[in-house]
Amino acid sequence: MARLTKAHLRYLKHHGIEPEEAFDASGLKRAEYRPRMKAEGKFVAYGVTPCHNGHALRNRYGNCIQCSPASIAFARRSELSGYLYLARSSGLGLIKVGFSSDDPDNRIYIANLDGYGGAWDWQICATVWADHAGAKEIAVHQSLSDFRAERAWIRNGTAIVSKELFDCDLAAAIGALSAHLTAKELQMIEYR
Ligand SMILES: [Zn+2]
Repeated sequence: MARLTKAHLRYLKHHGIEPEEAFDASGLKRAEYRPRMKAEGKFVAYGVTPCHNGHALRNRYGNCIQCSPASIAFARRSELSGYLYLARSSGLGLIKVGFSSDDPDNRIYIANLDGYGGAWDWQICATVWADHAGAKEIAVHQSLSDFRAERAWIRNGTAIVSKELFDCDLAAAIGALSAHLTAKELQMIEYR
């Protein structure tokens, strides 16, 4: 399991990147973390092999963002439109609040292959297309912070900690999500 160091956090903050925009890529090869990061709209990978200058933050293409900070300027996650979704695992009794740039069903398909959070029974409860969806996902996570439920789990043989699970009922999650949507987006929520 990898952790963001204080130096990493300082670097991210300096460049206006939220820690939630970072993806724990430990145990994954570049070809494995790239599609996962794309699916989740994640911008920076940590837990990667250090570059020749000893940095260990890379973009989803595997380039060191500290050696080439210009790459930070484009494709900022928080600016992207995309899907916000709520999924539930009956086994864990937890809610997952996530972002998907284009296909939440595929995201949940991968989550169930990986055993995300230690569960293989994730089912989508609600999805909505939203502007600035990455920023809204972070805002919903913060609204639900009292219910945050960290779970260590094993992906490809490596321990990682899930950061988007919440021990609350679905109504509370829908309420937190709705509070950050525009009136138009509220009408577009699809419940399943
Ligand atoms: Zn570097």
